[in-house]
Amino acid sequence: MVRVLRSFFSGCVVSAPCVLCGGPAGSISLCNECRRLLDEEADKALQDYKRCVHCGRPLLSEHGVCTSCRENPLFQNVDGVFPLFPYVLSKKKLLYGWKIGRQHNLTEIFAAYLAKVIKTHYPDAVVVPVPPRPGKIKKSGWDQIEDISLYLEHIHHIRVVRLLRRTETMQQKKLSREERSEHSKRSYMLDEKVSGCMGKTLPEHVVLVDDVITTGNTVRACANVLKETDFIKKVSAAALFIVPG
Ligand SMILES: [Zn+2]
Ligand SMILES: [Zn+2]
Repeated sequence: MVRVLRSFFSGCVVSAPCVLCGGPAGSISLCNECRRLLDEEADKALQDYKRCVHCGRPLLSEHGVCTSCRENPLFQNVDGVFPLFPYVLSKKKLLYGWKIGRQHNLTEIFAAYLAKVIKTHYPDAVVVPVPPRPGKIKKSGWDQIEDISLYLEHIHHIRVVRLLRRTETMQQKKLSREERSEHSKRSYMLDEKVSGCMGKTLPEHVVLVDDVITTGNTVRACANVLKETDFIKKVSAAALFIVPG
């Protein structure tokens, strides 16, 4: 199955160089050394960070709540956030290579990391993918979160329910921080068709899956929509990256 998914996703990429150091890579666009270092960092992040109780950012000298959440408590309605890596330095290269450079084969390792996060921290939850902006797929050709979700379902045997839809097309990048926050509130809705037939079979706990948490507005907006249902009581979020506060 891994081979089927891998060839499906990476059909257009043959032995590209390592997205981090440019050295020779195999079927996944990372050389052995960069892959080893990344695996090591992921394992460490899963075990021993002291994390902010709201956003999951690693804490430096603070206790309990990070400076960013103290100033702007975006995640208070979310029951847990677990971002794996701070979005700095090599991680920007990694995300760029995956999304813009279309190294689809990286999806496999990202999905494996997220599967570990979910199985370790949210084992009772069903995954709800953060949906793409309408028009995004047309423009960039693919939906990275959906690809990750397929791996979570078929390789890692985690239940995925596509409960959310986007409602608009405007790019958040072009908005100010305040505008983004206001805009995000109206950007998501429940997919009635899915929730109508599955609502009764869903557990009370869902975990949102996204690639990078920037302001936190997306997670907050999605959590609000999910908590408006009468069947979801708890919303957590797992992401590959978080922009430091
Ligand atoms: Zn490398
Ligand atoms: Zn925080």
